[in-house]
Amino acid sequence: MTDVYLNGQFLPLDEACIPVLDRGFLFGDGVYEVIPAYGRRLFRLHEHLQRLQRSLSEVRIPEPLDETGWAGVLQRLVDRNEGEDQSVYLQVTRGVLPKRDHAFGGQDIHPTVFAMSTPLNPPDPAIAEQGVAAVTLDDIRWQSCHIKAITLLPNVLLRQQAIDAGAAEAILIRQGQATEGAASNLFVVRDGVIETPPKGPLLLPGITRDLVLELATAQGLPAREADIPVERLRDADEVWLTSSTREIVPVTRLDGVPVGDGQPGPVFRRMHRLYQDYKDAVRRGEAD
Ligand code: PMP
Repeated sequence: MTDVYLNGQFLPLDEACIPVLDRGFLFGDGVYEVIPAYGRRLFRLHEHLQRLQRSLSEVRIPEPLDETGWAGVLQRLVDRNEGEDQSVYLQVTRGVLPKRDHAFGGQDIHPTVFAMSTPLNPPDPAIAEQGVAAVTLDDIRWQSCHIKAITLLPNVLLRQQAIDAGAAEAILIRQGQATEGAASNLFVVRDGVIETPPKGPLLLPGITRDLVLELATAQGLPAREADIPVERLRDADEVWLTSSTREIVPVTRLDGVPVGDGQPGPVFRRMHRLYQDYKDAVRRGEAD
């Protein structure tokens, strides 16, 4: 049985309950993080906790724990649960207020803090060998996509629409620009140069995205932040999607048309190797 963390306690999953007046339940009023652990070591923890802190401050939820507090709780959670590699999900909501009212000002806020961890299986090797299909869809989300809000209804519907179309992910288009996936960041490769859209309110600042840029720079691979108009996406040599649990995914068909020669490209293969080496260094305690 999985042990989860809820408001200061570790307890079995089926004993963890929250009140129905929790604003996470009523309004989707909360933020979250997903943090992998490799060899039971939390991956890029500082970066994830910094993003959490930024999300909390943007939505005006008081920080329930400081970085040392979080690190202690999450490491204990990983130590108690199964699997050398795990995926930690944590969520902070604005908690319970006595009356269902959109506004929350002037009231005592006691955030609800929940975290759970599940075994993290390595991505199916067939994905790196063959790639996946993606479709472009209109970005129907709000204007604050940099906040990692639990309010994910547009993302949920977009991902399902992609699956229904026989694809693995939706690449979102806003005013002619490709921003990111429904639950991933976007990269293209053109003439050997790796490109990803610059950070801003229209996309989530992905931790994997930043690591890919960091690894590219460290290895002297040309990489830059640049807007990706949809035409540039369509004639890219390579398209990749990144996220903490799926890592780097090559897109080999876009809206039914092959990307490049329809196979994962050479720059992807290089970056995939670098990423795997980095995870191994984390497992050995030589990186984080
Ligand atoms: N964009 C969106 C909308 C996401 O949901 C995610 C994954 N949660 C990402 C990007 C990738 O972020 P990360 O690399 O931090 O997992």
